[in-house]
Amino acid sequence: MSPRLRHLTTLENLPRATIERLLDRAEALRDACAHGTRKLDVLTGRTVLNLFFEPSTRTRTSFELAARRLGADVINFDIGFSSTSKGEELLDTLHTLEAMHLDAIIVRHKHSGTPEELVHHAMSGVSVINAGDGNRAHPTQGLLDALTIRQHRPDFENLTVVISGDIRHSRVARSDIHALTTLGVKEIRLCGPASLMPEPDEFPHVLHIDDFDQAIGGADAVIMLRLQKERMASTDLPDEAAYFSRYGLDQRRLALAAKGCLVMHPGPINRGIEIASDVADGAQSRILEQVGNGVFVRMAVLNEVLAR
Ligand code: ASP
Repeated sequence: MSPRLRHLTTLENLPRATIERLLDRAEALRDACAHGTRKLDVLTGRTVLNLFFEPSTRTRTSFELAARRLGADVINFDIGFSSTSKGEELLDTLHTLEAMHLDAIIVRHKHSGTPEELVHHAMSGVSVINAGDGNRAHPTQGLLDALTIRQHRPDFENLTVVISGDIRHSRVARSDIHALTTLGVKEIRLCGPASLMPEPDEFPHVLHIDDFDQAIGGADAVIMLRLQKERMASTDLPDEAAYFSRYGLDQRRLALAAKGCLVMHPGPINRGIEIASDVADGAQSRILEQVGNGVFVRMAVLNEVLAR
């Protein structure tokens, strides 16, 4: 059995058995909640801190709900209201909050590597979970995307998955690639404008395809990504109408994919820029299932790092 995780900062190099254990546990928790057990008491008396230095709606709410459903107490700490906006150093913030006797810190930060920095400096016994750092990793999103695909298509060895859009700035794309590669997906294709693609040597095993019609041909799942304008210089901003006509997912393009292709998006979606409204709301859309799975995946991760 792969060892229990104390922290979750990235999916890169996690053993397949660990990823599968987390997905299985998320399914088991989903079943437990579906059978009326809306609140479990595995984390009663434990305290979880949501430490968000970047705005978030769904991820923060999802972690909060996950922690509460396991019986933990939750503190929310937002940069907008915190002393870091008065110049306090990250590690001073950490130590101040730790003095309140935390068990886990869920952190989101615009700088890649902040979760590891907290792991390094956190008091022993405090677990760190990455809720998104820079463009580097968003491990719970990678897990919930893998879970959503697995619920429909457990035959990963037969699957072609397309990830399309602003991949260069996307921590979701990176965590998806790590999860899906480890789980044995047959083919991963990346598609987007050259200026928004990762360096070719970052993921040498995945295909880079510039033409979206070609990339989506025969695909079993397509993960659409938002243009992350907040991580771009204003000179890099593409024209939105031209972008949609080349890289937007509409019904015509979806018809080029395999029958029943899963349409996914981590949110927030920008209708008419990377995805047409009727596709986002259409019969093949799994976007709201992803949101629902997010809570169970985060329960599974909290349970993994905190259960005694
Ligand atoms: N919500 C995801 C993230 O935090 C995707 C996005 O913002 O576009 O990375």
